[in-house]
Amino acid sequence: MFKRFGMVVVLALAGVPWLAAQQEDSDVYWKIRREAIENSQILPTLHMLTDRYGPRLTASPNVKAAGEWAAEQMTAWGLVNAHLEPWEFGHPGWANEQLTAHVVSPVEDALTAEVIAWTPGTEGPVRSEVVQIDVPPTTPTEEELQAYFDGIVDKIRGKIVFVGKHETPPVAFNPPTKRRDEPEVEAAYDPDDPVPFYRRRPRTPPEEGRLDRREVDKRVNLFLAENGALIRINDAGRSHGQIRAFSNRTYEADQAPAAIVLRNEDYGRISRLLEHGAVELEIDIVNHFYPEGKTDYNVIAEIPGTDKADEVIIIGGHLDSWHPATGATDNAIGCAVMMEVARILTTIEAKPRRTIRVALWSGEEQGLLGSEAYVEEHFGSFEEPKPEFYKFAGYFNIDSGTGRARGATVFGPPEAADILRKALAPFEDLGVLGATTTKSRRHGGSDHTSFNTAGLPGIGVGQDPIEYSSHTWHTNLDTYERVVAGDAVKSSIAIAAAVYHLAMRDDPLPRFEADEMPEPEKEEGEEEKLKPPKKQPTPSL
Ligand SMILES: [Zn+2]
Repeated sequence: MFKRFGMVVVLALAGVPWLAAQQEDSDVYWKIRREAIENSQILPTLHMLTDRYGPRLTASPNVKAAGEWAAEQMTAWGLVNAHLEPWEFGHPGWANEQLTAHVVSPVEDALTAEVIAWTPGTEGPVRSEVVQIDVPPTTPTEEELQAYFDGIVDKIRGKIVFVGKHETPPVAFNPPTKRRDEPEVEAAYDPDDPVPFYRRRPRTPPEEGRLDRREVDKRVNLFLAENGALIRINDAGRSHGQIRAFSNRTYEADQAPAAIVLRNEDYGRISRLLEHGAVELEIDIVNHFYPEGKTDYNVIAEIPGTDKADEVIIIGGHLDSWHPATGATDNAIGCAVMMEVARILTTIEAKPRRTIRVALWSGEEQGLLGSEAYVEEHFGSFEEPKPEFYKFAGYFNIDSGTGRARGATVFGPPEAADILRKALAPFEDLGVLGATTTKSRRHGGSDHTSFNTAGLPGIGVGQDPIEYSSHTWHTNLDTYERVVAGDAVKSSIAIAAAVYHLAMRDDPLPRFEADEMPEPEKEEGEEEKLKPPKKQPTPSL
C-alpha cells in the first residue's frame, strides 16, 4: 500500500517546474525530492508512534517508550548523539488501561466514553443510579459557588453524577475548509501586509472576586470526591461521537472523583430517559498513576555540522499527545515529518555546515513545558542569555495536523522572512507560498513560541487544515487513518530544503538587534492555538 502511494506521488509530481530552483541548492533539492518520494519512512514512523506507542500522554510510560524508540530509530538512520533529555514535570504520570460503560436499566446497551486524565479509577465495576445536576456557574463568586454546592450536596452521594444539561450541537450545513486556497495563503505570507490564518482569542480574566473556569472545575471535582459522588460524567458536546477528554489539572488522584466524558449522543439519550424515571449505569475504569513521571523527557538527536558545527538549527514538534486516541495528527505526524527531514538529509549525505538537531518535546499539551525547560536550560533568554544563545540559528516547529506545509512564520526582522521566502520559493509546486514574521513573544500555541518568548528565532510552519480543528484535534478520532501521507511527504521536502538552506548560509538567520527586541509577553495559551470552527447557523424548524 505504501509503495502504491509512492507511485501516485511520483506521477503527481512529474513535470513540475523545480528545475528553476536556485542553482547552488538545486542539486541537493533534487536529491531531497527523490529521497522523500521514493523512500519515505513517514508512514512506518507514524505507525510506531501511534499504533505501537500511542496514546503518548505526558509523563506516561508510553511517551517515554515512544521517545526511546525514536532515539533508536534516528541512530539507525545515521544521526548521532540520540538521547532522552530529562526535565522536571513535577507530577506523576497517568494512564487509562480499561474502560467499560453500560446503561443497565431501564434498557441495556453499551455507552461510548473517554476517561479524564489524572483521575482515579473505580476499583471494580460500579453500578448505580444517575443523578443530573446543573452545570456549575461560570466565573462565580465564592458565595455563588457555595450556593451551587449547597443545592447539590444531598443529591450526589453514592450516585453517578451527570454534570450539566444535555445540549445538541447544531448541524453543520457549511462543511469546514479542508485546504486553503491560494489567495488565502498568499495573503497570510504577504511580505508587506500579512493576514494571519488565525487570530488569537485573548483570554479575559474574571473580574476581581470571581473564580475562573479552571478554578471552578477544580473545586467541583474536589466537592464531588469529598461528598461521595461515585463517578463524574460530562457531556462531550460534539457531534458524530467526537469526544474530547482533558485532565484533572491538580494531577492528584485524591482531588477528583473518577470522571469520564460521554459522547453527546449517549449523554442525550440518558438525559431524556431520566426525565421519565430512574436510570442505572454500570461503569468500570482502571487507571494507573506512575510516580516516576515526575521526571519527563525530550528526545534529542543530531546531524553534526562541519565548519560551523557549534551553531545549531533545531527542528521538532511535540511527541506527547492527549489520551483518548493515538495522537496521529496531534502530533505524531509532526514528529514523523521532522524525523523524516533528518533522515533525508542524512541519507543524501547533505553534510550541513551547521549542526541540525531534532527535538521531540513532551509536556506540550500541559503548556509547552518540555520545550520551555529545554530553552531555559540550554539557551536562557535575551534578558538572561547563556553562551549557546548566541550559537542558535533557528527552530522549525510543525504542529497543525496532517495538512501540507503552506509557509512559515519566523520570530525576527523582515530580513529573516526574506531568507526563508527565498529558501521555500522552489517549492511553490508543492503549495508552499511564502514566509512572514512575527514580533510576538507570547508563550502559547505550540513549542516554537518557547523560543520566541526567549527572543530566539522560532519558526512556525503553516499548514492546510484538512480535518484538524473540525475532527481530529484533541479528539478520540485522532488516529493513523486520518493522516494524508502525500501531504506529509510534501511537508518533509519543503522543510528539509529550508533547513538545509539555513544550515549552509554564510551568516546565521538574522535576529532582532538588541534595541529592536520586543518585550516578553508571557501568558498561558495552549488552548488557543486555533480559532474555533465558525459558528454554524441554528437550523430553523
Ligand atoms: Zn499539538
